[in-house]
Amino acid sequence: MNKRIMGIGVTAVLAFALVLAAPSSAQVKGKTPFKVFISVDMEGIWGVVHADQTSPGTAEYGAARKWMAADVNAAVQGAISAGATEVVVNDSHGSMRNIDPGDLDPRATLITGSPKPLSMMQGIDPSFAACFLIGYHAKAGTQDAILDHTISGSVVRGIKVNGLELPELGLNALIAGYYGVPVVLVSGDTAVCRQAAEVLGKDVVTVAVKEAYGRLAAKLVPMDEARQKIEAGVREALGKVAAAKPFKMQGPYAFELMYHVSAQADMGAMIPGTKRVDARTLAFTADDYIQGFRTLRAMISIAPAR
Ligand SMILES: [Zn+2]
Repeated sequence: MNKRIMGIGVTAVLAFALVLAAPSSAQVKGKTPFKVFISVDMEGIWGVVHADQTSPGTAEYGAARKWMAADVNAAVQGAISAGATEVVVNDSHGSMRNIDPGDLDPRATLITGSPKPLSMMQGIDPSFAACFLIGYHAKAGTQDAILDHTISGSVVRGIKVNGLELPELGLNALIAGYYGVPVVLVSGDTAVCRQAAEVLGKDVVTVAVKEAYGRLAAKLVPMDEARQKIEAGVREALGKVAAAKPFKMQGPYAFELMYHVSAQADMGAMIPGTKRVDARTLAFTADDYIQGFRTLRAMISIAPAR
């Protein structure tokens, strides 16, 4: 190293140190980064009671995607009013292109389209302080639950991790937990709210926007009240976020996938490492939860529809 280069180096280091010492614009405003991640599904959105409303190409879908944006915008408003400095929204239903980007609160960032490596949780990482699951639904086989299913209505009868049958909210909370992020709020019907408390514990804030009569009918909370409840629930959840714990399970992770029919298990069994438990059930173990989740998705994706 010659002296000249050394001199430039010292100057550069000093300049860099000054940049580090200078307060960021966020600090000037009295804020430190406080990031919120939102995964938004559709079956648990206010107003939705039928798959026609959650499927592109139907007359009702156009209205339902507006309701979806409105529920998530209530959560964005709540988060920002509670001090969030960044809100990332991941569209998590079907094609994952349901929210018209122009309908989302412009202060939030949208993740849209599919497939995505982490699917309904794409975009989450350890920099987030909290996660909300908006518009979620109960697991397959739940009575009095709007459009109950687990990941794929036509393929999956149930999914267990370490012996516990989990709804999507649990499978996804484990992804958040993998990155050290707690799920602090879940919205949907009364059934998913009940399951959220069962899986995540009583401290999770739940917001019911409808109560199901069977699988395809519900009594809706009045529209404005539903959105106000989401916004208030978000403020409550973020108010006690410091005490929230990420949802974790002890590895290794024993996955069990129950298909609807044996032909689906025949295809899933093509994936190396899977074990046939019975005609319709496959099992496998993963040391890493994310790796296990990816295997699970592949097992579901290659199975033929019923
Ligand atoms: Zn969905």
